[in-house]
Amino acid sequence: MGTTTTMRFRNYEIKPDPTGQVRVSMACVSDEVCTEASGQQSEPEAVSRWAARHMLETGHSQFRRRYSDRVQVEAGEWQ
Ligand SMILES: [Zn+2]
Repeated sequence: MGTTTTMRFRNYEIKPDPTGQVRVSMACVSDEVCTEASGQQSEPEAVSRWAARHMLETGHSQFRRRYSDRVQVEAGEWQ
């Protein structure tokens, strides 16, 4: 009776996907009423300019900034 379990582990590598662009966005979190957001952009400077303009127009100064990118996972050797 009884079972034997063999666990095998494999190395892997995560690389930036050369075909994938970085995406950046910012959303105002200065108060619970404001729902303004920059939308996803590929240029971080465009998102920063949006936030600066929103702050000048409203006085809101708290934002949530999100970055995302695409990656490729490649399997390596079994250990
Ligand atoms: Zn705002």
